[in-house]
Amino acid sequence: MYITCLDVEGVLVPEIWVAFAEASGIPELKRTTRDEPDYDKLMNWRLGILKEHGLGLKEIQDVIAKIDPLPGAKEFLDELRSFSQVILISDTFTQFAAPLMEKLGRPTLFCNTLEVADSGEITGFKMRVEQSKLSTVKALQSIGFDTIASGDSYNDLGMIQASKAGFLFRSTDKIKADYPDIPAYEAYDELLSAIKNAMK
Ligand SMILES: [Mg+2]
Repeated sequence: MYITCLDVEGVLVPEIWVAFAEASGIPELKRTTRDEPDYDKLMNWRLGILKEHGLGLKEIQDVIAKIDPLPGAKEFLDELRSFSQVILISDTFTQFAAPLMEKLGRPTLFCNTLEVADSGEITGFKMRVEQSKLSTVKALQSIGFDTIASGDSYNDLGMIQASKAGFLFRSTDKIKADYPDIPAYEAYDELLSAIKNAMK
């Protein structure tokens, strides 16, 4: 029994913090784990900036509501969900992803949670589990699923390599060169065919 696990940012939607930095006009929020590898430190720094700008969850969601999924992403996901169970696995936060999930037809999403005060201020965040993507596919395998996984980045390699079939999608030249054994695709129809073939 197959289940498809998909990365979200870079595969179905733009990088949320980058898009948010542009939509909100706060360019320093473009800083990513490439600039600050310590994720906790980076997130606490981001939350500080949001607070400085007086942005609570509602204001942030209003900005994120202006961001659209990547062109063709909704159609791809609809088609994929017509023949496979699909779980989106992301390191982002449920509340940030929510406006984008609406636009994708409310697929199942496993990610992390922001801690929000009654006033709407974001006071902290809770990561669900270590190595969430790899841990999730392993858990699914432990209950009888064969997993098929796809993503674009370093944090996707664990679930891609641990799965029955795994694909890079719109990844970087560096990752594609470092992992030549992982099939890499750029177009949604290529990825759809590869997933279909893996299920045969
Ligand atoms: Mg990604």
